[in-house]
Amino acid sequence: MGAAYICTTCGLQFPPSDNPPARCPICSDYRQFVPRGGQRWTTLEELRREHRNAFQQLEPGLIAIATTPEFAIGERALLVRTPDGNVLWDCIALIDDATIEIIRGLGGLRAIALSHPHYYTTIVEWGRAFGAPVLVHEGDREWAVRREGVTFWTGESRDVVPGVRLVHCGGHFSGSAILHWAPGADGRGVLLTGDTIQVLPDNRQVSFMRSYPNMIPLPASEVTRIAGIACARPFERIYGAFWDRDLTSDGPRRVQESAERYVAWLNGRGTDAPVS
Ligand SMILES: [Zn+2]
Ligand SMILES: [Zn+2]
Repeated sequence: MGAAYICTTCGLQFPPSDNPPARCPICSDYRQFVPRGGQRWTTLEELRREHRNAFQQLEPGLIAIATTPEFAIGERALLVRTPDGNVLWDCIALIDDATIEIIRGLGGLRAIALSHPHYYTTIVEWGRAFGAPVLVHEGDREWAVRREGVTFWTGESRDVVPGVRLVHCGGHFSGSAILHWAPGADGRGVLLTGDTIQVLPDNRQVSFMRSYPNMIPLPASEVTRIAGIACARPFERIYGAFWDRDLTSDGPRRVQESAERYVAWLNGRGTDAPVS
């Protein structure tokens, strides 16, 4: 049956094969990169020997999970807890016994929802471990190299459990999505954005890019459109794809101001006005 190889650069797991895949489609894409040393592969068994997962509660009902030492892109998955079951937002490659025990102890998973292909990693393993459907937007179907248990959703939004809704944005990828968690931030609302909307290191600004490592911007019309979609629902905070990328107050104003600054620079009207 062979091994289910994992790309060490992006964490994507492939169907079992006797030999490693010839290439990783995600890393060969113009938005990503194959490292200087060439494509390398690992397996879950190997990964479990040298890595483990760390957990951080970001606020009541929201727990971040990421692998240490850092692996692949270094993203975190976010566990949203609701009275109707837990939702895992985005995914990380390492799934081990401790992680499964801890999440089972918290009630397991009702669903796994993905922002975009850079975090597909081992979605099939996570879905199987918790008997949970994996929700991927139809616009990114071509990037899902493993599809067992994957549900492709279409349209502009989809309820996952009561109070938790997937919202399609596009931009970085055709199917790029965000998750709106209405009861988060004491009922003021939370957005989980992956890197559809990237929370920046100052925790006060966000960005919108076609490619982050290769620094390709999005058109002004797309930036304005995505900011508008994000702000169509009430929210206070945004939690991004990486440790400490948390924008904890004034979410809509900060998204709008970030979008306006971005668009102004694209259009040659940028100013050095300080971030408020
Ligand atoms: Zn890859
Ligand atoms: Zn990405």
